[in-house]
Amino acid sequence: MEKKRKNTKKRGPAQGRPAVAPQKKLRKSRCPVSADCGGCTMIDVSYETQLIGKQEKIMDLIGQYGPVEEIIRMKNPDHYRHKVTSVFAPDRRGRAVCGIYKEHSHEVVPVKSCLIENTTADRIVQTIYSLLPSFRIRVYDEDRESGYLRYVQVRVARVTHQVMVTLVATGPTFPSRNNFVKELVRLHPQITTIVLNINDRHTTMVLGEREIVLYGKGYIEDELCGRRFRLSSRSFFQVNPLQTEKLYNIAIDMAGMTKKSTALDAYCGIGTIGICAAKTAGRVIGVELNGDAAQDALINVRANGLQDVVEIYNEDAGEFLTQMAEAGKEKLDVIFMDPPRSGATEQFLDAAVRMQPGKIVYISCEPTTLARDLEILTQKGYEMTKAVPVDMFPYTRNIEVAVALYNRNAGKKQ
Ligand code: SAH
Repeated sequence: MEKKRKNTKKRGPAQGRPAVAPQKKLRKSRCPVSADCGGCTMIDVSYETQLIGKQEKIMDLIGQYGPVEEIIRMKNPDHYRHKVTSVFAPDRRGRAVCGIYKEHSHEVVPVKSCLIENTTADRIVQTIYSLLPSFRIRVYDEDRESGYLRYVQVRVARVTHQVMVTLVATGPTFPSRNNFVKELVRLHPQITTIVLNINDRHTTMVLGEREIVLYGKGYIEDELCGRRFRLSSRSFFQVNPLQTEKLYNIAIDMAGMTKKSTALDAYCGIGTIGICAAKTAGRVIGVELNGDAAQDALINVRANGLQDVVEIYNEDAGEFLTQMAEAGKEKLDVIFMDPPRSGATEQFLDAAVRMQPGKIVYISCEPTTLARDLEILTQKGYEMTKAVPVDMFPYTRNIEVAVALYNRNAGKKQ
């Protein structure tokens, strides 16, 4: 961060004057690696100021469409990330380090603890690092394509406290595997499962496709809105579960459903929104493009005994909804949509409007594409009745927002 500030400052033309005020140069960041990491661009900005900035950004982008409520803040914005991924690699001198990739490079900056990561997860990563020499585990050297351990990923469940460790390595033979597992679990009895993920490809993807369970069930379970979800190392799950629960409750409340309502959960991931919303709906239809996520969603539906209420389809959301609109057999009361950063496609928005649901609840992680899509929806008969930003990613510039849209052609506003 210091570094970026320096680059954007105009150098003073006066000779003998330092280009950057000395106090600024000396000011220490809360995080010793923030300049290299580039993750938390606002680590040295007070939480109040961060929230004001996010509120203003949302107002600027979507305030013209309707009322924007005050951003839902975190009581304690530190250590909110429940999934931690650490790179294991040699440094320039060939010594093993674990940490993060320096921004825009493949150099690894050592990190012992991080202000936004779960502290249990960070401690487990450090323990694994300290065990490397005694178990003769070599870290992977990308340039030489030699070595073994590439990444360690730790996931901590907020409600159940179950902990999953995923060791990502180039092959299936983990050195002294049983003793390593025994020692790691002895040092961190909270660990409920350990998985060896094999990634032998020259790729920037962290996880490979093959997995061997070394300890426990191979997955953990957590709860959101009183429902249970199974998380495997490869499934998508919001990294800030505390704020996710608030976001989902706001979205479900916006939908205002009854037991007679049918809802579409578009871009449903592992089915979380639809499954949480099933409490108040009669029927939920989830659609998700990623096969693994759709598979997890199905498992989650069954685990919560909701197979009579929630259906899951593994398809492109735009194509799925277009077919539904063309067939003309289904009626949707509510569409929940939670697309990726790129927003929804025009095909999806057209089909959504053709279905004429009474409500659309749009959950967005990228307000610029949200604004683009709102322009379309508001021109086609939908009115934004409320937007609620939720701070899911303190210290970063990312903003999540839930937006309620009601259908002007469908009678009463709620
Ligand atoms: N609603 C979920 C996931 C949101 S992330 C949650 O709250 O956890 C967005 C999801 O959209 C991802 O799971 C991604 O795989 C999925 N996705 C991306 N493009 C899609 C498309 N064209 N059709 C359906 N799903 C898509």
